[in-house]
Amino acid sequence: MSAWLTATVVAAEMAIPDGRLLTLDVPGWDGSLPGQHLDLRLTAEDGYQAVRSYSMASYGPAGHVQLAVDRLPDGEVSPYLVEELMPGDQFEVKGPIGRYFVWRTMQSEPVQLVAGGSGVVPLMAMIRAHDDSESAAPFRMLYSVRSPEHAYYAGELATRVGERFRLDWVYTGRTPNGWPRPPGRIDREIVEELIIAPGERPTVYVCGATGFVEAVASLLVELGHDPLRIKTERYGGA
Ligand SMILES: Cc1cc2nc3c(=O)[nH]c(=O)nc-3n(C[C@H](O)[C@H](O)[C@H](O)COP(=O)(O)OP(=O)(O)OC[C@H]3O[C@@H](n4cnc5c(N)ncnc54)[C@H](O)[C@@H]3O)c2cc1C
Repeated sequence: MSAWLTATVVAAEMAIPDGRLLTLDVPGWDGSLPGQHLDLRLTAEDGYQAVRSYSMASYGPAGHVQLAVDRLPDGEVSPYLVEELMPGDQFEVKGPIGRYFVWRTMQSEPVQLVAGGSGVVPLMAMIRAHDDSESAAPFRMLYSVRSPEHAYYAGELATRVGERFRLDWVYTGRTPNGWPRPPGRIDREIVEELIIAPGERPTVYVCGATGFVEAVASLLVELGHDPLRIKTERYGGA
């Protein structure tokens, strides 16, 4: 069982209208596998504590830990992390957590990632690990965002697209000018068109708010994907 460690914020930048990237220095951190998360604990002056889970976009044995946090307007913890936290501030973290929702470089099968909003965070760690490795496994991601401005890591993702990594977008609220598809949620047609076919036996990682993950996982099963090859991470919410 890992211990609580002190994390110091070294950078905090708004990345989307309601979301922020946090870079943390965590002395004693042992590193993480691509896809894992940590627990974050805030302690108020009166001793009140709140604990929430956050995925890591970083991976590997050392270096800074990177998180991306969406501000939920009625949330207890996320508005503080997005609006108030400053470089130099400290809180505690524990982890890494999770051995199931991870990608390992020895996996040789095709990989399909499906991200909803900040659900891209652990998938980003997988994309980075894949890119940094010699893996020949084809990687593909379908990334659903409200609008182009709501995409985390858009610049970095664009630089990683290539022979081994394909990226497709779904816009639920507003599309870029001239986009061929009207805004809408991931549906059957999109899954058929933009997700690696079940016959190729991909492992599919789906991450985002609970409703998003459940809707996508149901469509995948309906379209013939092996439920045992669908790995999900649910962030919460209805
Ligand atoms: C394994 C794991 C990894 C996570 N990784 C991330 C991450 O990388 N980035 C991130 O921003 N969040 C992530 N979350 C969600 C995070 O743990 C918190 O739930 C979130 O920040 C809200 O906390 P809060 O205290 O602001 O809201 P709370 O006060 O706890 O909740 C406010 C309301 O929002 C609902 N809610 C909680 N999460 C969501 C959601 N995702 N979508 C819609 N409604 C929600 C709750 O059910 C509640 O009704 C992750 C959750 C899990 C379980």
